[in-house]
Amino acid sequence: MFEDTPAPFPPHILLTPGPTPIHPRAQRALLREMLGHMDPEVFALNREIQADLRVMYGTGPQTLTALLAGTGSLGMEAGFANLVERGDDVLICVNGAFGQRMAEMAARYGAKVRLATAPLGEPIDPADVAARLSGARLVAVVHGETSTGVLNPLPEIAEAVRGSGALLAVDAVTTAGMEPFHMEDWGVDYAYTGAQKCLSAPPGLAPVAISDRALARHAARRTPTPLWYCDFEGLRDYWDRHSYHHTVPVNLHYAFHAALRAALEEGLQARQARVRDLGQAVLAALTPLGFTPYVADPAARLPTVLALRLPPGFDDAGVRQALRERGISVTGGLGPTAGLIWRLGLMGEAARPAPYRALMLALEDLLGERGLVARFEEALGVAA
Ligand code: PLP
Repeated sequence: MFEDTPAPFPPHILLTPGPTPIHPRAQRALLREMLGHMDPEVFALNREIQADLRVMYGTGPQTLTALLAGTGSLGMEAGFANLVERGDDVLICVNGAFGQRMAEMAARYGAKVRLATAPLGEPIDPADVAARLSGARLVAVVHGETSTGVLNPLPEIAEAVRGSGALLAVDAVTTAGMEPFHMEDWGVDYAYTGAQKCLSAPPGLAPVAISDRALARHAARRTPTPLWYCDFEGLRDYWDRHSYHHTVPVNLHYAFHAALRAALEEGLQARQARVRDLGQAVLAALTPLGFTPYVADPAARLPTVLALRLPPGFDDAGVRQALRERGISVTGGLGPTAGLIWRLGLMGEAARPAPYRALMLALEDLLGERGLVARFEEALGVAA
């Protein structure tokens, strides 16, 4: 049973592809006293969040950035709600569960949906996107497909879309804040993520960035945005004009502000290096056990979600249950890859040596294997 003041909290190691462990600075910020959503201090905090989000997404200095009061899926839905009108031709890139979710949402907002697809575990081909572009008002793609661990070639897809007249909406849920993301240079019009992924803030906020082109498309709508809560104009009312729209979750803003500041202070390039080094060390440690990368093409591997095919005969459910009993959460496959793969999260505070060393130690014990910790530390360049 849950009590309201249990102490001490039992430790838990989250190695899932989201949510990630909350950054200690974000955890402390949650203790801050409540303020009203119209308080000048909150508007000052929000302005800093907006500026930091421009850095994270690589936007111009005036680009509209904001937090939606919901998870990554709300970020996804808000894009289609604002940028699609009934009968619009929309091209969606689908090579996994989250691309599929995009297609479903776009259809619910009345789009005529066409797909550019790739088999599970393979990236979208930018030439295929280019070949299907004609007539599209919007193209949408998931940058990092969490369900399979594939990094789609966003710069090349964006290049194909640029100049076509279509807007480009991007799911940056497993990339923004950890992998290169250059919204302005690439010509992305709408990007979103979830606070609980690469930034290690609590779930419940979807940071978005909206280009001027997207705002102009929205302003020219024939019909109002059907999702009142996330109407781009409503967002501007609160975030730019500081007038009331709805009561934002101020405490989550405090925590998000702290987590994003911590990420920018560490440096986006340092974070990229941290993920890559750790991913290589995890792979080096697990390869001798028979784990192999699910994504064949190394260039298409999403560094923040390491998808590994399980060794033949491996007891997926049993081992993950035993790990859970030791306070370590590991995620398996989703849908068609259930029982076939593990998806190890290397986002935010999960991408640290200590939690993965704990996983190696637990696996040594559970599987009766030796050498995982030593291989892991050697690959990381840590003295064993
Ligand atoms: N898009 C991607 C790529 C995701 O990985 C997820 C969640 O894992 C989502 C969208 C949906 O985000 P949420 O579960 O925060 O609504």
